Amino acid sequence: MGDFIPVNEPLLDGNEKKYLLECIESGWISSEGPFVKEFEQKFAIRMNRKHGIAVCNGTAALDASVDALGIGAGDEVIMPTFTIISCIGQIIRSGATPVLVDSDPVTWNMDVSQIEAKITPRTKAIMIVHIFGLPVDVDPVLDIAKRYGLKVIEDAAEMHGQTYKGRSCGSFGDISTFSFYPNKHITTGEGGMILTDDDDLAETCRSLRNLCFQPHKRFVHERLGWNMRMTNMQAALGLAQLERLDEFVERKRRMGARYTEILKDLNGVQLPLAKTEYADNIYWVYGLVFDDSTGMDAEEAMKRLAQQGIGTRPFFYPMHQQPVLRKMGFFEGESYPVAEQLYRQGLYIPSGMALSDLQVTTVVDVVRAALLCKTA
Ligand SMILES: *Cc1c(COP(=O)(O)O)cnc(C)c1O
Repeated sequence: MGDFIPVNEPLLDGNEKKYLLECIESGWISSEGPFVKEFEQKFAIRMNRKHGIAVCNGTAALDASVDALGIGAGDEVIMPTFTIISCIGQIIRSGATPVLVDSDPVTWNMDVSQIEAKITPRTKAIMIVHIFGLPVDVDPVLDIAKRYGLKVIEDAAEMHGQTYKGRSCGSFGDISTFSFYPNKHITTGEGGMILTDDDDLAETCRSLRNLCFQPHKRFVHERLGWNMRMTNMQAALGLAQLERLDEFVERKRRMGARYTEILKDLNGVQLPLAKTEYADNIYWVYGLVFDDSTGMDAEEAMKRLAQQGIGTRPFFYPMHQQPVLRKMGFFEGESYPVAEQLYRQGLYIPSGMALSDLQVTTVVDVVRAALLCKTA
């Protein structure tokens, strides 16, 4: 048996070292350094947005976005149940109410046909979250938002370099967010970005990320903010990574195509769609959903793969099942069967940027064996 294959490993062999050294040699290591603005500008241009506001992680980007839109007590926000906890945190803390929709069983993205029925006079915003590498069907959401006068937040944390009908993910709705965690298409170690075309929203987000210090009365605060600043060192990494975004998307697409090519004849496993009518998958992660007929759930599959040296992660645990939220009284009696099934039967296999062709082959061999031994 070879070495353990981790679920993610980033590639840092471009200009990362050079730009980081510049930080150290110049002494610019804080958020005041010049790389932060350069990264914001270049990232915003790449995603076709007017403003970029770099922050310390993708969760912070979501928190600030929800707050900047003035979402609070009495408001409802429609969002997918199948997502990461980061999406819901500030909605709950602000006193607003999250209203959930289930996933599409084929794309695993939020089922946009369920949104309109969830709208009430209290609905203030829709949060779309692109999942795993394929974008949400955005146009119907933008259309609903326009008709009902709702704000749109786009969580594009898994979508660097992806497009929807040729338009950049991260350019939709009022405000978009990204994460640069090491398993994303580009990484800064920890980091995030808020993008918007709205001058006032941009200014509000800049202020929120910097404790709402005021330019003229620094320590007098009219609003509560956070320290969400990104350092010059993180931005240095981000700039080096951004230079290679097209190459990284290409790499991931090649990885996904290879996995699909050698897994497609396997019975009992649902693979990610290679494309929809509006996008080609960029495989943020390569997910597998085991059929109930295999007699194996995700937990069992992950155990078997780990025994053979393959790192995996489970799919998202739906928001309506989260103990912390149930204890607060949310989502009582609600059920979203597709998301529940995805969690129960879904996992993702090694999908990082540094994954080699040989590692892909090894992973597939192990997945095959794990499926076969169910009958043993
Ligand atoms: C990774 C991710 C986040 C959180 O980003 P962090 O930088 O880890 O805080 C938010 N939303 C989605 C969809 C993600 O995949």
